[in-house]
Amino acid sequence: MHGTTTTQRRISPLIDPFARAITYLRVSVTDRCDFRCVYCMAENMTFLPKADLLTLEELDRLCSAFVDRGVRKLRLTGGEPLVRRGIMTLVASLSRHLKRGTLDELTLTTNGSQLAKYAAELAEHGIERVNVSLDTLDSDKFRDITRWGELDKVMAGIDAAQRAGLRVKINAVALKGVNEDEIPRLIEWAHGRGMDLTLIEVMPLGDVGEGRLDQYLPLSMVRAELAKRFTLDDIDYRTGGPARYVNVRETGGRLGFITPLTHNFCESCNRVRITCTGTLFMCLGQEDAADLRTPLRASEANDLLLAEIDRAIARKPKGHDFVIDRRHKRPALARHMSMTGG
Ligand code: SAM
Repeated sequence: MHGTTTTQRRISPLIDPFARAITYLRVSVTDRCDFRCVYCMAENMTFLPKADLLTLEELDRLCSAFVDRGVRKLRLTGGEPLVRRGIMTLVASLSRHLKRGTLDELTLTTNGSQLAKYAAELAEHGIERVNVSLDTLDSDKFRDITRWGELDKVMAGIDAAQRAGLRVKINAVALKGVNEDEIPRLIEWAHGRGMDLTLIEVMPLGDVGEGRLDQYLPLSMVRAELAKRFTLDDIDYRTGGPARYVNVRETGGRLGFITPLTHNFCESCNRVRITCTGTLFMCLGQEDAADLRTPLRASEANDLLLAEIDRAIARKPKGHDFVIDRRHKRPALARHMSMTGG
């Protein structure tokens, strides 16, 4: 793996045109996944040829260049990050930035299917918390949503993560008529195990072969329903992500809401995303992107790469404008969430 040399280390932070410092990088390490969640992927997805993917060494070099420019938080995602072959080599290598104090957090978002295998190793490499995506506690429903997943495996993964001392946050996409009745149970279950729960609105990304309008459940409505049953106290707690949190008085746990549609959260955006082919997306909800793979491969030094990153950040847009309504049945963007990893 590439080391970070003093000449590569630049201290000038990445500041976008709206004076937002870019301190959070999300990296999709693969477009492949062992699940086929109905709101995320079509059942017959065509995946990228392996030759198009950045190697683990290239991913490390790219992440490290961002760390050198002031990124303090790195999140590995996918596809499913833990199905990328050799992923622990990348985690081990990136963990040097934690040891040096140049990175505050290295974390990942996972479907949990491989956590039983990797949790202990992740903890050894300085990972302190992981997000696990889980939309239901009912194994039949779980199979319907993920098409290919097994709830037992994910539960074993969560057990292993907690045993290894990792803090686990559960992310659940709120789906109309699918898990909306189950949300109180999810809250009680997650909080009962000492885990935060964050609810996410379905975002109109990629053609998944199912009507978005059928899946979309505004969290403003979920919150109103929950408020009949629980006491929800707004709190200032932030994790560097877009969730707004409440404390649930009855359970003593935290509940987050990620509401890209009912509440635009762009004004405090501190993040950018890289795909597994080295494409940099400056906004989850816009098409504009920068190819970082070409400058990365063109030279062993980072000058071309850093210049391209600077040009890209200089055009980071103010925000996105997702709309799901009867006039906008098509996806707002053609790419699937699995490309940028949420
Ligand atoms: N495989 C990993 C996982 O399951 O967490 C990481 C990638 S997955 C794309 C990241 C998150 O995006 C998951 O929580 C998933 O539920 C969510 N997601 C996928 N498609 C979505 C969509 N159209 N709208 C909202 N969330 C979505």
